[in-house]
Amino acid sequence: MNRTLSALGATIFDVMSRRAQETGAINLGQGFPEDDGPLALRQAAATALIEGPNQYPPMRGLPALRAAIAEHYARHQGVTLDPLREVAVTSGATEALAAACLAMLNPGDEAILFEPAYDAYRPLLERAGAVVRTVGLAPPHWRIPDGALEAAFTAKTRVVIVNTPHNPAAALLHADDRARLARLAEAHDAIVVSDEVWEHITFDGHVHDTLLADPILRQRTIKIGSAGKMFGFTGWKVGFVCAAPPLLDLVVKAHQFLTFTTPPNLQTAAAAGLAYPAAFFAQQRADLARSRDRLVAALHAEGFVTTPSRGTYFLLVDLAASGIAADDATFCTRAVDEAGVAAIPLSAFTIAQPETGFVRLCFAKRDETLDRGAERLSKARRLFV
Ligand code: PMP
Ligand code: GLN
Repeated sequence: MNRTLSALGATIFDVMSRRAQETGAINLGQGFPEDDGPLALRQAAATALIEGPNQYPPMRGLPALRAAIAEHYARHQGVTLDPLREVAVTSGATEALAAACLAMLNPGDEAILFEPAYDAYRPLLERAGAVVRTVGLAPPHWRIPDGALEAAFTAKTRVVIVNTPHNPAAALLHADDRARLARLAEAHDAIVVSDEVWEHITFDGHVHDTLLADPILRQRTIKIGSAGKMFGFTGWKVGFVCAAPPLLDLVVKAHQFLTFTTPPNLQTAAAAGLAYPAAFFAQQRADLARSRDRLVAALHAEGFVTTPSRGTYFLLVDLAASGIAADDATFCTRAVDEAGVAAIPLSAFTIAQPETGFVRLCFAKRDETLDRGAERLSKARRLFV
């Protein structure tokens, strides 16, 4: 049996959501919006399902969707992509990550991971045979510490996984850190897997910078996006992969034996969504920023201290600064069992350098859910202060 998988527990997202469902807790844990995305896109998916075709679409994705992806990124991020040779569709960003790892790594190669890290990265890298080297990002700004990236690169480094906007830190990759990364990746001939699924969810005037916009990284980056995150349909699992042809060709070879294709009706609907005007995405950002601010205000009124959230659906609570004498796992366990609110311990995202002082909350919820969630978090806080 495979050692990487045998050593794994169930993902914290599923554990916490199940616990919330069993106990009737408010779920501010797993990242999904309380309300589904646009009705018009659901209708587009329904119509495409009824009218068909419902047979295998092309392995790289429906031509209309690949064209829509290229057009979308040209319009929003200023990058020029050839829809035929540089764009492919996967079954969610997760499949794209798996395919990128399988495509770029041989057993014994090294991969660099920044922690905290989205929980799928490390097992996927290890399952692809990589030896993972970790660079820790430190709160509250989550910058790459001076010299740490330089020290992590070796002659064996083949892949670096970057996530911006960052889940769970809710930070954006700093331009100076990106420039360092570009220099080092080029010097070591490494590939950057850039998980940009939260690209449209940025706040306070911050703008997402795709790594593909950097002239050095353009040729050595595999950019990953997700319709689930763009439109608020996390169950849809429609992912986008963009990379220079030699990289994309290999990713597609892995994809052909993972899922091969992705449901065609969801692809049709995703293409319609990508063509939405900029105002749609601006409104979505504004709505989420308002939800963030509502939760932050309620938490601050109850004595919680939070770190800044510049993007994603998430914010972090600093337990010690909030006067809570407990580690994150203990706080989250008692919060869901005794106070009726689910959250995610940051330690689920840190393996090499455990960080147990923060808890992640999802604010993509209705006002009343956020208000009740904050009340229950306050009840949980009183268990420890
Ligand atoms: N990467 C990151 C950083 C994520 O936060 C998520 C899901 N929240 C994914 C990948 C997975 O995306 P998908 O559901 O499209 O597989
Ligand atoms: N990405 C989501 C989160 O961070 C969860 C995805 C999942 O449940 N696997 O909450």
